[in-house]
Amino acid sequence: MSLAHHKAKPLKNTTRRPAKALCSECGLCDTYYIHYVKEACAFITQHIDELEVESHGRSRDLDNENELYFGVHQDMIAAQKKEPIAGAQWTGIVSSIAIQMLEHKLVEGVVCVQSASHDRFQPKPVIARTAAEVLAARVNKPTLSPNLSVLEEIEQSGIKRLLVIGVGCQIQALRTVEKELGLEKLYVLGTPCVDNVSRAGLDKFLNTTSRSPETVVHYEFMQDFNVHFKHEDGSIEMVPFFGLNTKELKDVFAPSCMSCFDYVNSLADLVVGYMGAPFGWQWIVVRNDTGKEMLDLVQDQLKTQPVDASGDRAAAVQQGIAAYDNATTIPIWLAWIISFVVNKIGPKGLEYGRFSIDSHFIRNYLYTRRNYPQKLAAHVPEFAKRIVARYKLPAK
Ligand code: FAD
Ligand code: SF4
Ligand code: SF4
Repeated sequence: MSLAHHKAKPLKNTTRRPAKALCSECGLCDTYYIHYVKEACAFITQHIDELEVESHGRSRDLDNENELYFGVHQDMIAAQKKEPIAGAQWTGIVSSIAIQMLEHKLVEGVVCVQSASHDRFQPKPVIARTAAEVLAARVNKPTLSPNLSVLEEIEQSGIKRLLVIGVGCQIQALRTVEKELGLEKLYVLGTPCVDNVSRAGLDKFLNTTSRSPETVVHYEFMQDFNVHFKHEDGSIEMVPFFGLNTKELKDVFAPSCMSCFDYVNSLADLVVGYMGAPFGWQWIVVRNDTGKEMLDLVQDQLKTQPVDASGDRAAAVQQGIAAYDNATTIPIWLAWIISFVVNKIGPKGLEYGRFSIDSHFIRNYLYTRRNYPQKLAAHVPEFAKRIVARYKLPAK
């Protein structure tokens, strides 16, 4: 391990980050590991294929349809906790795995993100050392979150075995500096991630969309074409995508997330999301043996079923591109969803996952081409280029 980074100075909160407008506030630059920012930042040096080899022993097989879309994996299943954790995002599989890892002493700490006491949407990354601290981090914080800002504490605390929970951009930076952390073993539990927003963007979204913005606990864009807002009292408010104020929300997503191609968290050992599973179930991707070891810890707490796919997304995706091209006031994801409903194709399971990946990759490819043409070639990973190339895009 080189200790050169100890001399590096973290940036103050107010200082512009090296990735400038594209910074996703992953937290690396809040620590002395900023020393490695040029190689580590997902928006300065994209090197997912190289890191896949380091993390999983091989890069994804681009000729295998499931690997092209969902990344390197040895297994995919749909699962639910038999007894869901109250207040978790879905059924709480992520929190349950983290708790088991602490209780089995596989790790001494878990990097996760709680909420600030004065503001539930202000992310507060922590190193949890108890089940209660992990549980306090349950549920998505739907804002950019500086999870890696706690990395300096790891070295200082003497932790040698660590679990990190995080989204793609955080995990790319983490994997790049992994060898510098002085750990005996790092476990990475990822979630898919897309369409994230800055704190200011979140306020704008809630204020223009929910009937009671101040009581929203979390929200999710769902397969049933509604945004589901969960309120403090447990009630669910559903706002149809068609009801969104598209003009106000056109630029609501952060520039980082409009140019992100790691939707499926390619570098985590285990990924827990929902989009490849039937409605109400979670979708689990086991990328390597470390991921399997983590999943095995909670097998007895889960109901499972095989993943499946039905429907055909391709025509809807292509029509969405045309709708986007013609209607400048509609965000592309909404245009896709509209064409999708109109078509009544209803892809399910993995086909829904592919629909979401296709439409977001194309939207983000067009955004990057328009705003960062000089970055396009190196920033878009080969798997995303192949996916985008399946569709006819508007001329520049
Ligand atoms: P819980 O047990 O509730 O635990 C959630 C964990 O997420 C906590 O440990 C917490 O530390 C961590 N976390 C919360 N917010 C953040 C954040 N902002 N950054 C990093 N870590 C965080 N899945 C899909 O299949 N498709 C999607 O489009 C999709 N979009 C997502 C967008 C965002 C911004 C996030 C954070 C997640 C997204 N997910 C998506 C994942 C999904 O919503 C659930 O997080 C996942 O299925 C785990 O659910 P759970 O009940 O097991 O989690
Ligand atoms: Fe630094 Fe992370 Fe922002 Fe990149 S995304 S500039 S590594 S804080
Ligand atoms: Fe990071 Fe991509 Fe999620 Fe944005 S969409 S927070 S860039 S992983």
